Amino acid sequence: MSGEFLLIECKCKNRQIVFNKPSSIVKCLVCNKILVEPTGGKGIVNTKIIRRIRN
Ligand SMILES: [Zn+2]
Repeated sequence: MSGEFLLIECKCKNRQIVFNKPSSIVKCLVCNKILVEPTGGKGIVNTKIIRRIRN
């Protein structure tokens, strides 16, 4: 399964690294806001993407 990781920033300014094809909802670790929603493929990112991280 291919995919990439994204460094994203929540509105609360918390930054975290997420997989861009998540199998479940990704929430902010600080404020619990939903940041990425799964679709079965590429997830829907609901916040700002700072940069992409390629392996
Ligand atoms: Zn947050």
